[in-house]
Order: sequence, then structure tokens, then C-alpha cells
Amino acid sequence: MIMKGKKGVILGIANKKSIAYGIAKACQEQGAEMAITFLNERFEQKLAPIAEDLGCGARLYPCDVSRPEEITALRESLEKDFGQIDFVVHSIAFAPKEGLSGRFVDISKEAFDVAMDISVYSLIEITRELKPILSDNASVLTLSYYGGEKYIPNYNLMGVAKAALEMTVKYLAEDLGRDGIRVNAISAGPIKTLAAAGIGDFAFMLKWNKAHAPLKENVTIEQVGNSGMYLLSDLSSAVTGEIHYVDGGYNIMGMPAVEFDEN
Ligand code: NAD
Repeated sequence: MIMKGKKGVILGIANKKSIAYGIAKACQEQGAEMAITFLNERFEQKLAPIAEDLGCGARLYPCDVSRPEEITALRESLEKDFGQIDFVVHSIAFAPKEGLSGRFVDISKEAFDVAMDISVYSLIEITRELKPILSDNASVLTLSYYGGEKYIPNYNLMGVAKAALEMTVKYLAEDLGRDGIRVNAISAGPIKTLAAAGIGDFAFMLKWNKAHAPLKENVTIEQVGNSGMYLLSDLSSAVTGEIHYVDGGYNIMGMPAVEFDEN
């Protein structure tokens, strides 16, 4: 039981297809105790059975990261329930639909600000707010995608947000290293989730990744979950500021290994 005695909070479960659910499940299977959060009332009822399934009991809290007062209330609830916590999963992103297809040059300032606020700044804010209750060797994990490194069709605004998120991980890791807190990201391959449904022609991303990744398969939330659990556990005690690919190896490819007819 790798996570026995560890307590943590998971932000970003929308349903059982969420990457955050895969991570929560892997942590639970290894003995962790958890609290989970929901975005708004629409999700509260849906998440009640999931909280039950994850052994969270009543530890199901509201947390819309665009509302600072809800982040503060989350810290108070966690402190009451757990005292200290050992891990935090930030599996949250949002961009208005206009930022996820069409011409990149047309992205509005409003859409840009919202995407950066929810998908990037929230990692800093959550980490800072929860810091007083983080244990000496706590681990913080967020989720990124290759579209923050290289151009991916339609990923557009979220690509810029993921680039900023990955640098945020590195700056946070340096800053919090002196407190014993580690901060890492998983760069996951494409997975069909609620958030992914907002990206233009996502089905093609799945097809392309499967065809060109060395492992010739798309990744699952169970696979991302297991890697996430490792980064949250003491097995990765010397790992921080890392962007860890869980993508079937897709990121190593410089050119697809396909044959084509030269005529
Ligand atoms: P998901 O829709 O299951 O999860 C996204 C979560 O973000 C939801 O639970 C939603 O409630 C939450 N969220 C959105 N706005 C919020 C706000 N204001 N406050 C609090 N929570 C808010 O989809 P997912 O694919 O599991 O996404 C989780 C993370 O993984 C995201 O950061 C996403 O960019 C990243 N990611 C996804 C893929 C993929 O292909 N699905 C690949 C790599 C990285």
C-alpha cells in the first residue's frame, strides 16, 4: 500500500471519465484517504456517488477556482477534516469554445483571460492557499498536454495556457522546494473526456495519436492514474518541476513512421 497514511484533495472530477477520477482511484487502491471537490450544484449530485465510491464519505466540497472565497473555504474544511494533507491534484482547465477552434488570431482578450485564470493561475492560488496545511513532504500534481509545447490543430488557446502551466510548475517547484513541497505535471495523451469534447475535431487527435505513438494505443485514465499516484507518493521523493509524459511515447516522434506512395 504505497499511499497508506497519505491524505489529499482532488480537484477536477466531473464524472468517472475524468482523468482526476483515474488518479483518485489509483490513490484509493494504494490506501490514500481523500476529499474531492465539485464545480457547482450541477455537479454536486453527480459526484455524491463518486465520493462514496472513493471512500470520501462527506468530504465533498464546492470549489469553483474563479471564486477565491471557495478556495479559502476549501482549506478550512480540509483543515477541520484532516489537519494536514500530503497531496493535491489540480486537474482543471477551461477555455471558452471560441478559443478551441477556428483562427488563432481571432482569440478575444476575454477568452484569453478566462482560460489563463482557470487553467493556470488557479494552480498558483490553490497551492498558496493550501500551503499552510501541506505536510513537510507534500506533492502537488497538475495535468498538461503536448499542445502546450508544439502546435496541435484546434488546441489553440489551451495550448498557450498549457505552456504557461508547465512553466508555472517549474517556478512553483523551485519556490516551494525549500518547504519540501514538490510540484509536477503529467502531460497526458488525448483521452475522451468532458473537457476534450470542447476541442474541435478531437476524434482526429485520438486517431492520429494512436496511429503515430510508439505504443500504438491511446492512453487510459487508469494509466494516467497510476503515473499520477507515483508522482503523489514517496516513490518520487526526488522528483520535482517535472513534466512527465504519459502519452504512449508520442512526444518522441519527429516524423510519423508511415510509408507513402512517392508518385
Ligand atoms: P474533465 O472535463 O473530466 O475535467 C475538467 C475539470 O475541470 C472538470 O471537473 C471541471 O469541473 C473542472 N473545472 C472547469 N472549470 C473549473 C473552475 N472554474 N473551477 C473548478 N473546476 C473547474 O476533463 P479532463 O480531460 O479529465 O481534464 C482534466 C485536466 O487534464 C485538464 O487540465 C485537461 O486540460 C488535462 N488534459 C486532458 C487531456 C485529454 O485529452 N482529456 C489530455 C491532457 C491533459
